[in-house]
Amino acid sequence: MKIRYWGVRGSIATPGKSTVEYGGNTACVSAEVDDTILIFDAGTGIRECGNYLLTLGISIKGAIFISHTHWDHIQGFPFFVPAYIPGNKFTMYGPPSDIQDQSLKQIMEFQTKYEYFPISLSQLGADIEYIDCKEGKIDVDGLEIYTCRINHPVASLAYKVIHNGKTFIYGGDHEPYRNIYRDSKEGEEMDEDFLKELDENAEEQNNKITEFCRDADLVSWDGQYTEKEYQAKKGWGHSSQLADIELAEKASIKHIILSHHEPMNSDEKLAQYEKELKKTASEKGFKLDLAKEGMEIEL
Ligand SMILES: [Zn+2]
Ligand SMILES: [Zn+2]
Repeated sequence: MKIRYWGVRGSIATPGKSTVEYGGNTACVSAEVDDTILIFDAGTGIRECGNYLLTLGISIKGAIFISHTHWDHIQGFPFFVPAYIPGNKFTMYGPPSDIQDQSLKQIMEFQTKYEYFPISLSQLGADIEYIDCKEGKIDVDGLEIYTCRINHPVASLAYKVIHNGKTFIYGGDHEPYRNIYRDSKEGEEMDEDFLKELDENAEEQNNKITEFCRDADLVSWDGQYTEKEYQAKKGWGHSSQLADIELAEKASIKHIILSHHEPMNSDEKLAQYEKELKKTASEKGFKLDLAKEGMEIEL
């Protein structure tokens, strides 16, 4: 399984002098498993991923897994050239809206309405199928792929691929579950037993994610914030690097790659965070990297 990073930035693309080293494109990672091409998220990084696939010189068949449909995870899709070429075939998987009754296809179509983009999805030349998915198992070319719901303001999924005894997990945006009423003004008026029940629910959800990640060889995870940044942005749907370290330790993850970098963080800042985080991870016995555009890992 060959993993490649095409987009590692969170929230908005950040081209410029201060992001050259880690990269400014939004979320996109590919995994080549024998002849099967799997793409995770379609942020602006998918444009370069598409250009790479064109160099392979074959008709392209692939699966695209959308973690969730926030802009930074779908906005590159209209610039994914292989989708325009007849003979190519893609299956796109992702969660439907849990806010209103809309399928993945309807949400994807919405971003290419003429008010936003000159070419509609129906004009794309490749054969593209859209499949709504929730938690469960997906079969792509006989590969075992599993999904797990993670905590974000909209439905967001983590995907797990198991091949030849190796496990790769790609997680979309999320932060650990928590009882939002604990230590809040509303919570002060709530019954303690009810608050305890909410604490337990959050813990149960977090344990489910830990088990999903158990013993994984490589986990690509949302590590947008430092602990200090997270304290000011709780509820925005992104993890702290500290929470990711705790997960890696608890789940005995062998290698964790933190991605979805905060747009405000320059190469200089990220390099400094990475140095400190790598030291902590190595003391705890696992490998950690911050994702960089162009990074390749053979599993
Ligand atoms: Zn995002
Ligand atoms: Zn998001």
